[in-house]
Amino acid sequence: MISSLSIGVLALQGSYDAHLQSLKKLSIVARLIHRPEHLATIDALIIPGGESTAMLELLKKTGSFWEELQQFVHKKPCLGTCAGAILLASNVENPAQDCLGSLDITVKRNAYGRQLQSSIHSGKCKYDDGSIELVFIRAPKIVRIGPAVEVLAEHDGSPIWVKQGQTMATTFHPELTLNKIVYKKWIENIKHEISNF
Ligand code: GLN
Repeated sequence: MISSLSIGVLALQGSYDAHLQSLKKLSIVARLIHRPEHLATIDALIIPGGESTAMLELLKKTGSFWEELQQFVHKKPCLGTCAGAILLASNVENPAQDCLGSLDITVKRNAYGRQLQSSIHSGKCKYDDGSIELVFIRAPKIVRIGPAVEVLAEHDGSPIWVKQGQTMATTFHPELTLNKIVYKKWIENIKHEISNF
């Protein structure tokens, strides 16, 4: 069943091509999603990093994309990275902006300030040897997590990789490193959610 899973990457703006290449390395062929009607052709979606305000604007002016994406993220597995995590959140600060609300977290945009505009760190995660390479680019900070949210990795005492049911998000960019643990765990989680359905 999982081998026939059709994965899409939202391709309005940001690092969607890097996600496509990362998935290709795992022998997963994903499709780029440019239009609302493409959502009906996929089972799961990655929302990439980039600029959440720009994506928000494009989503709202492309027909019913925003409304259809809102329905999609509440029904199907999604992975949001950086700006994608901001879009999936239930509350956004600095400044406040619309979000899809399928992940019960509050995020503060650009929270690490200038010094972390582009930096690489090592963080603690639940898998592998427990460490993970982290690329932060004007990253948001997860400042609140709801009771149903599980923290999969943290950095400097803050959650940076979280999951709630079939929704997963990172504040770093897994598509820019060689370690594919985030994708592997996301796919594994989809399998798990499908078998529990
Ligand atoms: N700062 C961006 C935003 O607020 C996110 C940056 C990123 O995705 N690398 O949307």
